[in-house]
Amino acid sequence: MGMPRSELFEWDRHHVWHAFTQMAEYEPLLIESGEGAWLIDVDGNRYLDGSASMWCNVHGHRHPRLDAALIAQAAKVAHTTNLGLSNTTTIEFARRLAEVAPPGLDRIFFSDDGSTAIEAALKMAFQFWRQTEPAQPEKTRFVAIDEAYHGDTLGAVGVGGVDRFTAMFAPLTFEPIRLPPPGLADAAGRLPTAADSLAAVEAVLVAHAHEIAAVVLEPLVQMAGGILVQPPGYLRGVRELTRKYRVLLILDEVATGFGRTGTMFACEQEGVVPDFLCLAKGLTAGYLPMAATLTHGCIWEAFLGSHAEQRAFYHGHTYGGNPLAAAVGLASLDVFSAEGVLAGLPAKIARLGQHADRLADFEHVGGVRQCGLVVGLDLVAEKETGRRYPWQEQRGRRACEAARSHGALLRPLGDTVVIMPPLCITADELDQLATACEAGIRQATA
Ligand code: PMP
Repeated sequence: MGMPRSELFEWDRHHVWHAFTQMAEYEPLLIESGEGAWLIDVDGNRYLDGSASMWCNVHGHRHPRLDAALIAQAAKVAHTTNLGLSNTTTIEFARRLAEVAPPGLDRIFFSDDGSTAIEAALKMAFQFWRQTEPAQPEKTRFVAIDEAYHGDTLGAVGVGGVDRFTAMFAPLTFEPIRLPPPGLADAAGRLPTAADSLAAVEAVLVAHAHEIAAVVLEPLVQMAGGILVQPPGYLRGVRELTRKYRVLLILDEVATGFGRTGTMFACEQEGVVPDFLCLAKGLTAGYLPMAATLTHGCIWEAFLGSHAEQRAFYHGHTYGGNPLAAAVGLASLDVFSAEGVLAGLPAKIARLGQHADRLADFEHVGGVRQCGLVVGLDLVAEKETGRRYPWQEQRGRRACEAARSHGALLRPLGDTVVIMPPLCITADELDQLATACEAGIRQATA
């Protein structure tokens, strides 16, 4: 028998400090179980998981193949350190990951979360320039994009550009060279062209390449910045420019990786191979915390030498390469092929697109942006002018809360309502999710 419901509510309010949540206003919703694209609360209410449990669930909850892999690994060993020691399951996973990754990215550093995947990439890029031949120790700075989000540890916050998450901690972080977001419209609603944005990148590289270690970028779409979709050609252009000016490229595919944009990795769509590829979230299909920073042999070689030379990467996390997570990650790659997950995406993406088009006609929906199986819908006070609601009114949050009573869990980004379901969602479930979202928006903007 489970704990009494009233006590769980009370203990949750009292003991659990929820992330990105004003605890003074927090209203608990207690999830007890999941099944496919659904989550079920302590009262037995069912909700479609419209945010893929914070953008990470891929094949659904309690997938039999993933559950079995987890149980089988638990019967062997739950955790062993990867500091100077290895584990059979983790090795196998690294090998399989290198096979599906963009070509050449076959050196894999495991950590725990998206933020740590970024931290590792930043530090590796920094250290690389000190140890490559000839060394360029003056290359210590990073180029980052405004409205970018790369996580909440301090290095990741430093290259982040969403003010409401970073401004408080600015005194604690380093300052990158910032570029405007290629997918953000100006006050007149005009989107920059790829050429406009690439000119800005080039201007920075011309002036500063000698001191820049790397450019950090979310490829194709900046998620937490508001689902800001980049113009075609931008990513490829950034890769060409970073090569031309000898600057490393770190791609943050923590949110876009593992099918979200329609291909296994977003960078494939522009034929781009970065110097560092940061993965987390979908790496274990949203089951367990695990992250990976992938790089190629040229970077790796700069870290080789005798023990006395002290060229090793002195960075690591206790649970890096955890075998339970690796077992699930391996099983997830099996599910991708066994269930033809990527092949099934175009139809789902098109269906979500139809719903987005319909919702775009709503009186209080302004901008609508889609990239693969994610849509952002901006709620606006006045459609004609694009005038926003006062932020204090929290229309986005209210729309998502209202959607709950229609059977969907959604999470807003400010006044942008986001639909980002697990990839396993069926066509019918997508229709239900869109209907609940529509009802939530109507209620919050009435
Ligand atoms: N990068 C991106 C693009 C993300 O969306 C996120 C999380 N939403 C992160 C990094 C940070 O990942 P984590 O929360 O696992 O640290």
